[in-house]
Formats: sequence, C-alpha cells, structure tokens
Amino acid sequence: MLNIALFGPPGAGKGTQAKKIVEKYNLAHLSTGDMIRKEIAEEIIARGELLSDEFVVRLIENSMAQHRGVNGFLFDGFPRTVAQAEILDRMLEKEGTPLKGLICIHVPFEELKRRMLERAKIEGRADDNEEAIAKRFREYNDKTVHVANHYKKKGVHIDVEGNCPVEEVFNAITKAIEEM
Ligand code: AMP
Repeated sequence: MLNIALFGPPGAGKGTQAKKIVEKYNLAHLSTGDMIRKEIAEEIIARGELLSDEFVVRLIENSMAQHRGVNGFLFDGFPRTVAQAEILDRMLEKEGTPLKGLICIHVPFEELKRRMLERAKIEGRADDNEEAIAKRFREYNDKTVHVANHYKKKGVHIDVEGNCPVEEVFNAITKAIEEM
C-alpha cells in the first residue's frame, strides 16, 4: 500500500498535483475539501474555518471503506490538525499500512494569495474571497502547520518547492515518492 498525504497552505496546488499523482500511481484520491463541499457545510467553508475533527474523520473513514482493494490512498487536505493526524496514524497502523510520506508543498505567501484570487474568478469557490482567504491562512498557521512537525518527528516528511510550473512540481513529487 502506498499511503501518502499532500500538505501545504491553501493555494499551494494540492488539488492539481493530487489529480496527477492518483493517475500515475493508481491511488484513491481522498480530498476532505471535495467531500465537504458535497455536504451541507457550505456556510463554514465560506467563512474559511476548519470543520470539527470528528466530522472530517468520519468522512475519511467512510471514504476509505468504500475504496477497499486500491493500491493506496492519497490524502489531500487531510490531516489538517495534529488530532486528525493522530487519528489517521492509528487507523493506518491498525491496517499495518502507515503513512509513507507527507509531501509538503512550499509557495511564498504573496503567490498563494495571487493564485487564490485568480481561482476565484474562474471557479467561483465560496471561500476564495479576501476575508475567507485571510481566515484560511489564520487557521493554517494556528492549527495546520503543526502537522508537518508531527510527521517530521516520524521521519516521513518531505519538502517540495511549489513555486514553479505544475510539471516541475510533479516531477519533484514523483522523485520523492520513488525514493520513499
Ligand atoms: P480545501 O478544498 O482543502 O481547501 O478545503 C476547503 C475547506 O473545507 C477548508 O477551508 C475547511 O473549511 C474544510 N476542510 C477541508 N479539509 C478539512 C479538514 N481536514 N479539517 C477541517 N476542515 C476541513
């Protein structure tokens, strides 16, 4: 099993890279953001706030159960808190298939903001406005950044430069995956 998580601030390109990774390695793409957008959580998303750990973990558990027999899982936008990371670790260890890597995509703040405002014009996501973007960065800095340290301690954390063309980022990611 190849279980990987894509990590990085909003706008780092996780969704774009996730689509390419799952295709190349035949993994199940588990994006909590996509799952939540299908649920009734639109109001919380629009404010840029994180949803409760319990709610998100339930979504992930259900989705993993629906994808039995795959080569592995690509977690996208999850775990976003240390509590979520600890729950995920327990779930995967129980199956004997721990997380092989947390791929951290790095992009400077100004570029992240530019990308999200650009995306707002194209996709019209409810949370791609100045106020929600600011809140999402605060949530990221308060709650999510610590997830990287959690996996650094476990020795499965990998840094990738994300401020370059999509294909270059993808090449760096595939190289990292093949060295795992
Ligand atoms: P994303 O598409 O990954 O940027 O997620 C969009 C929004 O969904 C976030 O701003 C949160 O409101 C919610 N969300 C996605 N994943 C999580 C998670 N793992 N924990 C809590 N909230 C989440």
